Amino acid sequence: MLIRPPSGKKVLWQEMLRHELRAAIEQRAVVIVPVGSVEQHGPHCPQDVDISIPYHLAIRTADAIDEFPVVVAPPVTYGFTHYNMGEVGTITLGLEVFIAVLCDVCRSIWANGFHRIVMVNGHGGNLAPTWAASVKLAEEDVWALAITYWNMATDELQAWSEADEGSIGHGGEWETSLQLFLRGELVDMNRAVKDEWRMKFSKPVQRYAQFPERRREMANGVMGDPFVASAEKGEKLFNVLQERLVALCREYHDSDPPRYREFGSHCP
Ligand SMILES: [Zn+2]
Repeated sequence: MLIRPPSGKKVLWQEMLRHELRAAIEQRAVVIVPVGSVEQHGPHCPQDVDISIPYHLAIRTADAIDEFPVVVAPPVTYGFTHYNMGEVGTITLGLEVFIAVLCDVCRSIWANGFHRIVMVNGHGGNLAPTWAASVKLAEEDVWALAITYWNMATDELQAWSEADEGSIGHGGEWETSLQLFLRGELVDMNRAVKDEWRMKFSKPVQRYAQFPERRREMANGVMGDPFVASAEKGEKLFNVLQERLVALCREYHDSDPPRYREFGSHCP
């Protein structure tokens, strides 16, 4: 999957020439690293839902900002999703490998001279590992923000949900809506199903249960209700997410990441 902005603006790291990348460094560019997963998303959605959403967000954000460059790094397409292996279509990395990949990608971007890095993640199983990568990098004086996109619009998700109670779900109300908006031709609503939870912790336990286990929870690997999804809802949510990411990139561009050396540390 290769996405370019509809305007034709050059924003993809891998397509930029050396002098363009150098100019971007001088202009304190923000680099967005889309992070996702290849995994089953129910019978009606393609396998790349979780990378397609942050990738589109990154491209549209880079297209919308003109005062300074926003560069979109090649997406980290594979994620940590062992728990979706029960359905055909899933390809997963091991936890340590995934964190190591994120760290190496961000280290390299930083070493090139780009010091405003934003990882935008689109997969629930990556949430904690992406945080972990960010924490590990900070230890080395490399600073990368770790965003999981739906956390930028929790209030809207809660307020606008007809069925899924503010959850991004999995092939449910919101992921299906976003897909219908972004890539409707890849969704087959005739195949959609709504799964019932067949094993679930009680609410007090669930609050602390950070380990998903979809193979046991769902008959068809769907979390949420795809039948209330629509392209209009997807567009409405996408626009809010894009607005928030644009604002964050502007804020990040204007501020400097903390560096140990500025505080007299022994670190280089
Ligand atoms: Zn998903």
